[in-house]
Amino acid sequence: MCLLCTPTRRDFLGGVLALPLALGTPRHGLLEPVLRLTPSGQVAVTLDACPGHFDPRIATTLVAHNIPATIFVTAIWMKWNPAGLAYFLAHPAIFALENHGARHLPPVLGNKPIYGLPVAGSLDAIRAEVIDGAVAVQEATGKPPLWYRGAAGLYSPEAIPFIESLGLRIAGYSLNADQGASLPAATVAKRITAARDGDVIEGHINQPKHESGAGIAEGLVALQAQGVQFTRLSA
Ligand SMILES: [Zn+2]
Repeated sequence: MCLLCTPTRRDFLGGVLALPLALGTPRHGLLEPVLRLTPSGQVAVTLDACPGHFDPRIATTLVAHNIPATIFVTAIWMKWNPAGLAYFLAHPAIFALENHGARHLPPVLGNKPIYGLPVAGSLDAIRAEVIDGAVAVQEATGKPPLWYRGAAGLYSPEAIPFIESLGLRIAGYSLNADQGASLPAATVAKRITAARDGDVIEGHINQPKHESGAGIAEGLVALQAQGVQFTRLSA
């Protein structure tokens, strides 16, 4: 198997055109990349399956309302949630699975934890996090992922070109819907319904016991009722 060794321009340009990654304002020396779609009346929903569980409130709403979404899965989430993974795979017109890393280690150098998460620490460890995550996605879906989103969405500056050299695009976002699944449902729904043309929404689908997930489902249905069209990053 030759995973990720021959990414072609066509692979990368075949999906929705995204604007060049903006690197955002550095925070503590780390970058939080901003990704937006080329304005086209569309919004992209991206949901992270960090470690944790499967949130059927969101998943069944997306299927029932025919709202496509890109799911960033970690290898450990897939291992712990075979039924949730099977649900995603059973609805390929709705869910596209992309790479959120193997062990949910932020692609950050050094040894300072981020939001309590131990970081990868070195470029070698970042490579293992990214490639092992990509292998797990390929094993699950039969296709190599095109996109990688680091745990916590923060990157050491050196990590970004390094990850791109491995053949993956960095999946930033422009609208943080739930602040790590920590916000009340009404707040999350309000943030989502404020989405603008070209926004890449980021939220979580791994916390079924947090009320923020109910807000994601409610907000997306309300956004659809406004006439917004949804797309996936790798359409
Ligand atoms: Zn995550």
